[in-house]
Amino acid sequence: MENVKNVLNEGFVRLAEVNANDLSVVNSARVSFGKIKNEMEEADKGLINFLMREKHGTPFEHNYFSFHVKAPIFVAREWFRHRIGWSYNEYSARYSVMHDSWYVPDVGSVRTQVGKPGSYSFEPLEPELASDITKVIDEACGTAFRTYNYMLERGVAKELARSVLPVGMYTEFYATTNARALMNFITLRADDNAQYEIRQYAEALASFLKAEMPVTYETFESNGRVAP
Ligand SMILES: Cc1cc2nc3c(=O)[nH]c(=O)nc-3n(C[C@H](O)[C@H](O)[C@H](O)COP(=O)(O)OP(=O)(O)OC[C@H]3O[C@@H](n4cnc5c(N)ncnc54)[C@H](O)[C@@H]3O)c2cc1C
Repeated sequence: MENVKNVLNEGFVRLAEVNANDLSVVNSARVSFGKIKNEMEEADKGLINFLMREKHGTPFEHNYFSFHVKAPIFVAREWFRHRIGWSYNEYSARYSVMHDSWYVPDVGSVRTQVGKPGSYSFEPLEPELASDITKVIDEACGTAFRTYNYMLERGVAKELARSVLPVGMYTEFYATTNARALMNFITLRADDNAQYEIRQYAEALASFLKAEMPVTYETFESNGRVAP
């Protein structure tokens, strides 16, 4: 499987390092009985399903996934709210110049919100208006980035010049986690209630979980994507 998934117009999730398999779930659960296996058997699927269903979450923690992510700052802010079982390091806009890379939605994902807080639904804007909006977003980010460069050229410190950049600018970070915390992320952020943009990242993470831990993923799905 490809270790890079492209997300949004310029983002990606790259699986930088991984050490994860279904057998570690089975063996860590069975240590209670002093048993170790070298290969998965059919009955082990039932055990993983039991652990998932009954929310015995700790056997899903003996593994790690290290992701290199490029995402808009507003997505990163949502992502970094996930504190438990996650480690982060991010590109520094104090020490490095920000790249000229910002989020411009597809015409089809420019939406309006209908309803009240807590029960919004999101409807697409009509295509001509949506197309105009993508241009407005692109121009606004371009103007901010030119202002940023103007300040850098005049010797303003990067840490101050960045204050004019919008949250649609792309940032990069490493995020390392385990399958249990990953499933909690997917439960919350791949859900219809989560913002469209972070949902695209959550689905990329789900595809990596599926590739590395297929039985875990299958039982996660069959239990309604509710993390243990
Ligand atoms: C659709 C959506 C809308 C949101 N809107 C807002 C918003 O308007 N404003 C806002 O501030 N946030 C918002 N959030 C963020 C949300 O409140 C959580 O901070 C975020 O989803 C991380 O979830 P988490 O705490 O389960 O993850 P983690 O921080 O990874 O925690 C994992 C689990 O550990 C346990 N845990 C962690 N910390 C504690 C603790 N201190 N005490 C007890 N148990 C703990 C909980 O069981 C938790 O589920 C939103 C999230 C979603 C998905």
